[in-house]
Amino acid sequence: IMVLTKKMIEIRNILQRVGQTGALTLPSIVVIGSQSSGKSSVLEAIVGHEFLPKGANMVTRRPIELTLVNTPEGTQEYGEFADLGLGKLTDFSSIQRTLTDLNLAVPEEDCVSDDPIRLSIYSPTVPDLSLIDLPGYIQIAGENQPEELKGKIAALCDKYIQAPNVILAISAADVDLANSTALRASRRVDPRGERTIGVITKMDLVEPARALAILNDKNYPLRLGYVGVVCKVPQHGGLAVFSRNTNITSAITKNENSYFGAHPEFAADGERITIGTPNLKKKLMTVLEQTMAQSLQGTSDAIHQELEEATYEFKVQYNDRMLTAETYLAESLDAFKHSFKEFTESFGRPQVRELLKHELDQKVLDLLAQRYWNRPINDSNRPRPDDRALAELPTSEADSAFWHRKLDASTSSLTKLGIGRMSTNVLATALTQHMERLVEGSTFKEHPFARSAIQEATNTILNERFYSTADQVENCIKPYKFEIDVEDREWDSSRHNVQNLLKEELRQCEDSLKSLKNTVGSKKLGQAMTFVEKARAEALPIRDMHERREATGISQALLERGREAVFLKDRAELIKMRLGAVKSKQCNNKENKYYCPEIFLDVVADKLTATAVLFLNVELLSEFYYNFPRELDNRLGRHLTHDQIEAFAREDPKIRKHIDLQQRKQLLELALQKMDSVMALENSKISSGASE
Ligand code: GDP
Repeated sequence: IMVLTKKMIEIRNILQRVGQTGALTLPSIVVIGSQSSGKSSVLEAIVGHEFLPKGANMVTRRPIELTLVNTPEGTQEYGEFADLGLGKLTDFSSIQRTLTDLNLAVPEEDCVSDDPIRLSIYSPTVPDLSLIDLPGYIQIAGENQPEELKGKIAALCDKYIQAPNVILAISAADVDLANSTALRASRRVDPRGERTIGVITKMDLVEPARALAILNDKNYPLRLGYVGVVCKVPQHGGLAVFSRNTNITSAITKNENSYFGAHPEFAADGERITIGTPNLKKKLMTVLEQTMAQSLQGTSDAIHQELEEATYEFKVQYNDRMLTAETYLAESLDAFKHSFKEFTESFGRPQVRELLKHELDQKVLDLLAQRYWNRPINDSNRPRPDDRALAELPTSEADSAFWHRKLDASTSSLTKLGIGRMSTNVLATALTQHMERLVEGSTFKEHPFARSAIQEATNTILNERFYSTADQVENCIKPYKFEIDVEDREWDSSRHNVQNLLKEELRQCEDSLKSLKNTVGSKKLGQAMTFVEKARAEALPIRDMHERREATGISQALLERGREAVFLKDRAELIKMRLGAVKSKQCNNKENKYYCPEIFLDVVADKLTATAVLFLNVELLSEFYYNFPRELDNRLGRHLTHDQIEAFAREDPKIRKHIDLQQRKQLLELALQKMDSVMALENSKISSGASE
């Protein structure tokens, strides 16, 4: 039994996965012949199906690397294109169509391409063989075939018919052997005829005597001999009898047998000649098996060398550290969860409180600026009727009802701000940003797939909880919309807090003014400010102001800067004044809240913050901390297929290189191991053969 070719084909498939290099090429049978010599018919008789492209316009333009794999009796026949990912094709007409498309994809002006099509056919009736079909030689260039095509085809064939490949030279019986392009090409690379098998087709088209003469030819002696065949599929029932999916092997054999059987000349000479496709198949198997055996040592040496190089590189570059896509993902995931855990420990209630309070402080400052601290400089240069600067407040006891209303309204805007939404949003945004930061600091940084998985996990949990959290918070702060009780302790703490807040606000005002001075120039800015202040004092109508501006030579842009500066200066003065007020005796007591709106609003903000944080923590933060690792496992853990994990790991070029080299090494080891067992088997055959 012949197992060598089967095993070697297996080994070749392994080697192909590491990116086959020249030295690792295993011998194949290369089929050459001129157009219409019957080359396709021979290949199809071997395969048992019509599957090759047909047509007048030079349909074979690329080499077809055809691997035949013998499967056990009774299994379904199918083909597979190694590079197309079409899966198993059980319909031979679709194999034929695919081959036609792949060939026609070669542009007309290029004529032929040396990029091979890889096709494997699995069937119980095929022998294990590795065949290469090449474009047929052409005698004369056709109408729309350029003259150089002839040369191009010859060059392509020459590339493939080199040793150690076996040449299957197809010639038709009805053409003089001396004119066989295939034999002439073979002779150039195999002058002693050692690795060429001659196939004579169309034996039925010449007289049996002449056919026999060709098979016994002495002018072109071939060590492996000639085989005569009749590879015509009987057509009498019309094509309908044989669909592409009916195996035609036995029909051809029957037809052949009946032709050879009808002519006793063949039987008489039967000892010396080889005829019939079944014999051709056997010969091909034996010859390929022998060639494979001869190339065993060379291939084994080549794999050894490749493996040594890969092993050395693996040691030098990766210190022999094994890395699989799976372990890489698991390690990355663990590391990420670890950093997530650290984050949860550093970001809890106090941090959320601080975040939220800061946000509310800004809202309070906005409110104060809007409702209290205004000395407006609008276009009319006139104060609006209800604008009263807080600066007047301590002296306006007479109409304190005005200030009462103002504080109540301000408090109410604060409590009705939509604290639920706002605070939930502040926390969700903070969490999202923190997660992004965690990703940036992790190995996932280089992995778009993992990045989006983490982002989605985060968003899913936050979105799921967002509205219910916002509602809960809103419900719980509801009492503050009606009444706010202030304790002395709270008042004192807010009084202290507000001083810091105002100081910070003052610093920012002064900084802005300073940088404005720096860009515009102190003197120029001073000029513009004087202009603005004077116009305001005079309540100068807008048109007059612009006339005056032009007369003074102040540009519109400078005027804008002047206004900005006056605004900042006013704001700074106001804040200083308010700071004084907050520090004053009057603001020492919570009973005087109408005179100290800053302190009162801060108390409110504090209460809102405390309540909101309580619920945010339960409803959102703890939930997020509990669910995130689970959500992450769902997306990046067990559920991924091997291919997905592999694709993930390969996103990082460094990891990809590592995995590739390692895989290459493993595959070479596997190939070598198989080689060793094949060689051991061969050696035992030889020694048992010798002892017989
Ligand atoms: P290719 O161009 O070399 O692939 O040749 P084909 O296999 O397409 O064959 C060319 C023509 O010869 C077709 O019409 C075949 O039917 C016919 N043909 C092939 N082999 C035989 C044979 O053994 N006997 C006869 N009578 N015709 C054959």
